[in-house]
Amino acid sequence: MLKNLEISGFKSFAKKGGLEFTSPISAIVGPNGSGKSNVAEAFRFVLGEQSLKSMRGKRGEDMIFSGTKTERALNRAGVKVTFDNSKRFLNIDYDDVIIERIVQRDGGNQYFINKSQVRLKDITELLAGANIGSSGHHIISQGESDRILSVNPKERKVIIEEALGLRVYQYKIIESERKLGKVEENIKEVQSLKREIAPHLRFLKRQVKKIEKSVELKEKLRSLYKKYFYREDNYLKEQKKYIEENKKPLENNLVGLDAELEKAKKVLSEEKNESKFSDEVLKIEDKLQNIRKEKDKLSRRIGQAEGMISFEERRLKTEKSKQKEKDEKVIKFKEVKSFLGDLRSNLDNYDLNKIKEIISDFIARYSQGEDDQKDIDQSELQKLENEKNGLEKDMNSILGKEKDITSQYERLRKKIEQEKDSGRKAEVKIFEINAKQSEFRSKLNLLLEKERKVLIEDENFKMELKEAFVLAGRESIQFQNLEPRVPSDEGREIQEGRRKDIERIKIKLEDMGSGSDEEIMKEYKETQERDSFLAGEVRDLEKSAETLVELIKDLKEKLDVEFREGVEKINNQFNDFFVLMFGGGKAQLKTIKIKKRKKKSDFDLEPGVPSEEDIDEKSSDELGIDVEVALPNKRTKGLQMLSGGERSLTSIALLFAMSQIKPPPFIILDETDAALDEANSKRYGDMIDNLSKYSQLILITHNRETMSRAGVLYGITMGIDGVSRLLSVKLDEAVKVAK
Ligand code: ATP
Repeated sequence: MLKNLEISGFKSFAKKGGLEFTSPISAIVGPNGSGKSNVAEAFRFVLGEQSLKSMRGKRGEDMIFSGTKTERALNRAGVKVTFDNSKRFLNIDYDDVIIERIVQRDGGNQYFINKSQVRLKDITELLAGANIGSSGHHIISQGESDRILSVNPKERKVIIEEALGLRVYQYKIIESERKLGKVEENIKEVQSLKREIAPHLRFLKRQVKKIEKSVELKEKLRSLYKKYFYREDNYLKEQKKYIEENKKPLENNLVGLDAELEKAKKVLSEEKNESKFSDEVLKIEDKLQNIRKEKDKLSRRIGQAEGMISFEERRLKTEKSKQKEKDEKVIKFKEVKSFLGDLRSNLDNYDLNKIKEIISDFIARYSQGEDDQKDIDQSELQKLENEKNGLEKDMNSILGKEKDITSQYERLRKKIEQEKDSGRKAEVKIFEINAKQSEFRSKLNLLLEKERKVLIEDENFKMELKEAFVLAGRESIQFQNLEPRVPSDEGREIQEGRRKDIERIKIKLEDMGSGSDEEIMKEYKETQERDSFLAGEVRDLEKSAETLVELIKDLKEKLDVEFREGVEKINNQFNDFFVLMFGGGKAQLKTIKIKKRKKKSDFDLEPGVPSEEDIDEKSSDELGIDVEVALPNKRTKGLQMLSGGERSLTSIALLFAMSQIKPPPFIILDETDAALDEANSKRYGDMIDNLSKYSQLILITHNRETMSRAGVLYGITMGIDGVSRLLSVKLDEAVKVAK
């Protein structure tokens, strides 16, 4: 319920004045230009109207008293409206609700609810709940009574929706669609984040697979190593034992034979005059002994050289693999990404020089330390090999000499035999000893060669143990406790096979490139977690999008149903009022489809007859409302055919019909009755009486009939000072004042 209105400084109301609305119908009367319409505008103003045009202004300060010849201009306009809210038609827990708006000349705008400053939004929401919306269907300005007929179908639909209290659905739909847009934007954003990390995740997944594979390979390597070491250890022990067992007896034998030979030679030299050969035998024998000593010495030196060569070869091999490690540079993906990002942004700008710069910077950054790389020095190995070759050459010549001497020796032996001088014991003895020496010596040489080989194998074994420890961990060298699954009589080639397998796995592992496994696993885990977090985010967002789509659909359905029902109800009333006014005929609202056009502000509706291009029943999904009328006893149909008075009556009938479906708390009608003749004024009066049962009415009028229906009459006068004044009047005075 409207209680009162207080105006101060608003337009022509320079002095504070007020209106009390104690009756269902109040009328405001007064001569032209006295400020009656300003009262209607004061209502619009205080209820939060934003369109200055609908309050006949251009700037905010047009709302403030601008001064006259005698009165000074004011700096502030304020309007206060008080509602009786004891029935809580406004959704706020106060019996009295005072809404106030103040505008300052400097442009400031303030809103208050019960003296507390609020936002415009708070006012709009509070009023929308009571069906006093911003399109102002309940405030009909002067000359605007037929606005409902002159707006286009789409705008008419908005006014009707508001009259039906359905705008609140529209707001909810708009709000939900806005939210939906946001959610969809978020989905796109999250999806693009997810897409961005996808290649990196794939890369990491491949790395992790490699790591798993290398773990598997390492395991394989470990067990292979264990078997290999176990076998090698046994083999070396056996070999060493064999050598130890056989070397000493052979050496002892040779020492014994040496002594025997000395003895035999002594005997022979004592008896030398008795044989023409003894000198020769002794000479050759000496030569043979010397050459053999020399041969042994050389063979030892060759053995040493071979050992050193094998050592040097191993050293070079480890050097090489260290070098290889240096060659493979690991560059973080993050850095590659930023590098490519730099390139891309400059590609967009076609800045080739900048790109060149970026590339050389990148290369320079990762070339650091490359200068320390030297060619591996092979000279030591070369030297050793040369030495060995030299020794072998010496050996060859010694072997040649030995052969010569041996054959001389053989010839001599045969000669002595032919001379039937075989009775010569000493000589025979020397020959025998010599043959034995030769046999044992070659056996010993074989053994020594074996010993050297084992020594090298033993060195290798130790190196391999070290390498295994580094490559595959401590476990791989703990072979001693291995169950003897390897048969002791197994061929050496099987062990050789194992060694080759080990080499193959080592190469594979090297190719995979070990390195920051833990870091990669960690990064993989983190990236995967982020990926599934984003996936979850997308799911959640999609769910809320679904919910919103559902909500919008529901709201639209509700709006659609309630709108159709509402239009149906308005139609019944509209037709009744129309028939009542014209004594017959037919009037109805019709829902039509219209082509989508650029959206106009709802606050700034441009009146205009709907044109053909607005209406297209086929191609559009937007709805509008058309008005169809047929006057009694007339063939012509349609709004365009109506006279001014007929048009006025039709719009009144429609406005009243609308107001009856969902009555607003109050209705302001500014000279809606201006065009009516006496008979129609009476009918208008009857309808007013009827309407006042549902809504409080404030009527600005010059019409005597209308005045007579009001319970309270206010007169507005304006003196030569140009200031509007309010006064309560009786009907007779009112009729006078109105003139
Ligand atoms: P009618 O019966 O002819 O429709 P009315 O009583 O409705 O007239 P209004 O249109 O309400 O009259 O008042 C217009 C008067 O208000 C004019 O005299 C105009 O000069 C005055 N007016 C409008 N704005 C201001 C303002 N900012 N400051 C002072 N006077 C103003």
